[in-house]
Amino acid sequence: MTRAFTFPGLTTRVVFGHGTLTQVPDEVARLGRSRAMVLSTPHQQAEAQALAERLGAKAAGIFAGATMHTPVDVTDRAIAAYRAANADCVVSLGGGSTTGLGKAIAVRTGADQVVIPTTYAGSEMTDILGETAAGEKTTRRDPAIRPEVVIYDVDLTLTLPLALTVTSALNAIAHAMEGFYAPDRNPVTESLSRDAMPAFRDALPALAQNPQDKEARAKALFAAWGCSLTLGQVTMALHHKLAHVLGGSFGLPHAETHAVLLPHTTAYNEPAVGSLLLPISNTFGHGSAGKGLWHFAKSVDAPMRLADLGLTAQDLDRAADIATKNPYANPHPVTRDGIRHLLQQAFDGHCPD
Ligand code: NAD
Repeated sequence: MTRAFTFPGLTTRVVFGHGTLTQVPDEVARLGRSRAMVLSTPHQQAEAQALAERLGAKAAGIFAGATMHTPVDVTDRAIAAYRAANADCVVSLGGGSTTGLGKAIAVRTGADQVVIPTTYAGSEMTDILGETAAGEKTTRRDPAIRPEVVIYDVDLTLTLPLALTVTSALNAIAHAMEGFYAPDRNPVTESLSRDAMPAFRDALPALAQNPQDKEARAKALFAAWGCSLTLGQVTMALHHKLAHVLGGSFGLPHAETHAVLLPHTTAYNEPAVGSLLLPISNTFGHGSAGKGLWHFAKSVDAPMRLADLGLTAQDLDRAADIATKNPYANPHPVTRDGIRHLLQQAFDGHCPD
């Protein structure tokens, strides 16, 4: 019998293809806006500049100061620039860091957002914003955070470095993985997440051979869209909690941390929801979702050990304490011993048992 579900609907307009960057001015006009502030990281400033030129009279300026974890002081500076330029919307060109800055501006000013994602991290389809102030990261959900328009241009991902291609894709798979057992999952998130598994399985080895492979880039970006949509519609559990703790309290890098944790958090929940994780075990083999992801990650040269990301053996107890301090919904009971063991396995890079 078909399971009962609620589909929350989609409020974000999505444009997907090759060369879709040309459509940015039209999408800005379609929103009824005429003064766009283009956002980027310092690394992608030249691309932001070129986009501002393409926007012509519709460009109000550039702010190329986006940075990881959306520090509030950067947002304050960006809003000052936004106001000084008399801008009426933001165009965020980049990965999750740039999208985060656009969201932080939008939730404070009401600015419309056009997001052009260039990684697979998946912030663009969500109503989630994580921000840091005084060394602490807090996350909130609010409909005002969700972007109005997302433009996926496959060609912009051709320059994504291979290491970030791999970790970012595993970050996306983590959204799908937790989406498979989320209590509020729906047939759309399930279907897109299911399709994303073989797409990433096939695209990543192809991109390792040739990062310019347009077909594989398109496959990966389409899969990332599905995973982002899933993240934006359902409740996350253990995996995202642990990634948040390690990023927020120990300063570990975002995509790499997701990549290392993924096989272990998957394996942790497998005894409780193995049948829901079949799209993963069927795709990646090795008889279990956790093991399959571990072997896949290894085969595409992903980072495998928290020890290599800057965590120390002394941090493990405190990380387990923080991660288990506030109870949260998770398919398999979250225990201090269980999480401590998981962290040790991820620290050492062992295949999950
Ligand atoms: P990122 O945005 O920090 O990008 C990493 C680096 O790669 C940057 O220097 C960037 O300019 C560069 N880069 C990005 N795309 C490129 C490309 N195509 N070619 C060349 N260089 C490129 O990394 P990320 O992993 O995309 O984002 C991480 C951030 O996103 C974290 O702060 C995380 O918390 C946030 N995030 C938020 C959500 C959400 O829903 N709120 C979801 C996922 C990630």
